[in-house]
Amino acid sequence: MSDQEFPLFIGGKAVPGTGSFAVIDPATGEAFAECALASTDQLDEAVDAARAAFPAWAAMPIEDRAARLLAIADAIESRQGELAALLSREQGKPRKSAMGEIGGTLYWIRATAALRPAIERVGGSEGPIVELHRRPLGVVGSITPWNFPVMIAIWHVIPALLAGNSVVIKPSPNTPLTTLRVVAIANEHLSAGVFNAVTGDVEIGGAMSRHPGIDKIVFTGSTPTGRAIMREGAANLKRLTLELGGNDAAIVLPDADVDAIAPRIFAAAFGNSGQVCAAIKRLYVHESVHDALAARLAEMAAAATVGAGDDPDSQFGPLQNRKQFDYVAALADDARAAGGRFLTGGTATTGPGYFFPLSVLVDVTDGVRAVDEEQFGPILPIVRYHDPEDALARANANDNGLGGSVWSSDVERAAALAQRLQCGSVWVNDHSTISPTIPFGGAKQSGIGVEFGQHGLDEYTQLQTVRIPR
Ligand code: NAD
Repeated sequence: MSDQEFPLFIGGKAVPGTGSFAVIDPATGEAFAECALASTDQLDEAVDAARAAFPAWAAMPIEDRAARLLAIADAIESRQGELAALLSREQGKPRKSAMGEIGGTLYWIRATAALRPAIERVGGSEGPIVELHRRPLGVVGSITPWNFPVMIAIWHVIPALLAGNSVVIKPSPNTPLTTLRVVAIANEHLSAGVFNAVTGDVEIGGAMSRHPGIDKIVFTGSTPTGRAIMREGAANLKRLTLELGGNDAAIVLPDADVDAIAPRIFAAAFGNSGQVCAAIKRLYVHESVHDALAARLAEMAAAATVGAGDDPDSQFGPLQNRKQFDYVAALADDARAAGGRFLTGGTATTGPGYFFPLSVLVDVTDGVRAVDEEQFGPILPIVRYHDPEDALARANANDNGLGGSVWSSDVERAAALAQRLQCGSVWVNDHSTISPTIPFGGAKQSGIGVEFGQHGLDEYTQLQTVRIPR
């Protein structure tokens, strides 16, 4: 596939890049497509186009903007199979999971398009009438990662557009292709310049963060990149939503029903081969149920089929890129050297492709890299504990604070403990579940701001206080 098939999108037109770059199939490690590469001049053109389109888009009644977003969902739906095949090829996930990701985007677009910024009245019955309005910000820059490339693009772009902003998106250079297709489809329903796409990596991402013509950056990716964006964005006091890394702890209490919880913990730890921001990445299990739960999880992991996305038998795909693959393999080696024991998995397959088996690691504790660091891969470290207070303290002794969960047959006890986890989302007997109407965001170094629901929509607006004499 050539870079002609994957152009940039600027001012309502497909535009060739000033260069191109190869996109790798993670199931083979080989390049399978060329993608257009943007220059910083082309970024400037995209921002100019977005600025020019902003006033008319912002002035359009929100019902009309929402109708266009719903039309985009219908258009994506009519091409779901084709988009899923491309997504599976570039990201690595099984075709069925890719269909699920595209299906999720449709659900998200439709639910988000139903949201409306609230106009509130504040103050008493004396003095001026005071209303709180929500105004669009201007141009929003979206920078996305490679784990759920299309879904996360939609999470950024749809509320931004609904609120009346125009957008410039830059997908991850690891997985740009399906996003570029979606931008082209969306442009069939939008005026020129409302939604633009550029490509590239650090250079273009950095230039977006510094760009005086971009009013806000919404970013999903690693914490170090989030810090870089914050530094660069200080130049024009950019508004920021940062959804960053996580190292979510799940605490299993002694009264938990092992057979009932094991499949849910398994899904929340290994979904998307562990490449999920709010996956379970540290499992603290009470000593009385530790061995039974670890054995049950290892059994499920060993029975799972890891394979190429286009193989109908695959339940889990490879890691998305070489760097991540090497990182996960290094964590496994480090854990073994620290005395850890893999009940299953733990060793990378010898090529081709970036395949790593689902791996259950025991006899490790805090201080070992696989526990302390976000794996973002299919290794689940299980930490044995004696006292739930100690497990809670260890769960909280981490810079990340995205999600956390407590698992127990006593829901009230679990809920009380869960609320003491220092993170943006907590679940009881569940983990990772998200919804387009429920805010989601990170505490501590897992991010700033939230996505989804009314609170998420508000992040694409400026609060304006309006005082009118009575
Ligand atoms: P990454 O930070 O390496 O890259 C993400 C994006 O940022 C890419 O588009 C990249 O080109 C761009 N980028 C890189 N350097 C930049 C810079 N200096 N300035 C601006 N942009 C730059 O992250 P990744 O490896 O693609 O994704 C994995 C990470 O993302 C994990 O840590 C994971 O936890 C996190 N993540 C978080 C969430 C969430 O909602 N909190 C969701 C998915 C992934």
